[in-house]
Amino acid sequence: MLIIHEPRITNGIKHARLSADIEVDGRHYALWYEVQEEFAQYLCAERSDAFLIGLLKYALVNGHDVMCEAPVTASLLRKIRESFLPSVINADRGRLRLIKLFAPEAAPIQVTNTGVGTGFSGGVDSLFTILSHKDQITHLVVNKCHIDSERATGEAGYFNALIVEGEKFAQEMKLPLIIGNTNYDGEALPGLSFCGTHGYANAFGAYALQKLFTRYYIGCGHAYEPFSLHNFATSDCAEYELLLGYVFTTENLNIVLDGPVDRLEKVRMLATQPLAERFLGVCCFGPTPQKRNCTGLCYKCMRTVLELLAVESLDNFKEVFDVQYVQTHKQEFCAELLRLWLRHDVFAKEVWPYRKNMQFGMRDWYGAGMIVLLKMIKKVLRGGATSHSFHPRG
Ligand SMILES: [Zn+2]
Repeated sequence: MLIIHEPRITNGIKHARLSADIEVDGRHYALWYEVQEEFAQYLCAERSDAFLIGLLKYALVNGHDVMCEAPVTASLLRKIRESFLPSVINADRGRLRLIKLFAPEAAPIQVTNTGVGTGFSGGVDSLFTILSHKDQITHLVVNKCHIDSERATGEAGYFNALIVEGEKFAQEMKLPLIIGNTNYDGEALPGLSFCGTHGYANAFGAYALQKLFTRYYIGCGHAYEPFSLHNFATSDCAEYELLLGYVFTTENLNIVLDGPVDRLEKVRMLATQPLAERFLGVCCFGPTPQKRNCTGLCYKCMRTVLELLAVESLDNFKEVFDVQYVQTHKQEFCAELLRLWLRHDVFAKEVWPYRKNMQFGMRDWYGAGMIVLLKMIKKVLRGGATSHSFHPRG
């Protein structure tokens, strides 16, 4: 049994914290979400909604029934019971069991909220969503749960650097920035990966602030197709975000999964936006005061560079990527493209038809082939373990 005790709000110095005591697997801890004091009025302690959403996957994967002390909005509870649980359990019957939810039901909280929010991470999906809806969005959010669990727990500096970027970006957009600090990653979800939980994490943050938001955009990581619940327990929740958007939408708060278009289409759009050219940040290592992206050390940078080459726009992004480095290390980028294509990677499949735009020469392709071959041999010698990219350090 996973027990979510009654949520409460506590005011600290310049911050307000929404928290609930959690009991599960012999652990007792407080799950919390904290914002600047000017946004304290929007935190919602009258419903367990945020906590139920945030812990839903953990409960499912670990086979725990859930008991909430405080009421859950009736329509949310109904959708989880009648739509979500039967769907995912059918899809992963071998590993999941039908859990029970015990909670008092209640009508949606009475608020006059009109806020429209979305998260800022600097990534392709996030910037595409913000710039597509800039006329509607009233608040930007930097959530700590936008960050990979490993990085969130291992590198507090990453979150702080993202806040600095978010503040600069929000200033350009003339929008308020909510800083959503939380212990959601890591402490609350031991054993669950970022990829498996980011959809729940985003909705957890939005529902913590359900007295503010009437609509909350979440940038889609995938197009709606292919939709899949296969291997639910371990899959990336981007594969079934459409279902999460439906289930987590209530009378008060519309969770909108935005931008279900090809990634290259998003990159093409961003290449026309001066703000994106200054703020695009995809790097696994996070922003530093010196540079926004590592360009060639992590797989996310390499993938994005390939996409920008495919749409012939890398030069527009010289403020955030080291374009000179790309020019002098073409073989490595060519090898990364080849490697991903051979693995039938969905992103590589998209850019492959545009490989001529990348202007790799015969020597680059030959060198890339050798790098890939060498890596394959090393992989076999390692016993099948893979590395993320073909950078010499990879
Ligand atoms: Zn990087």
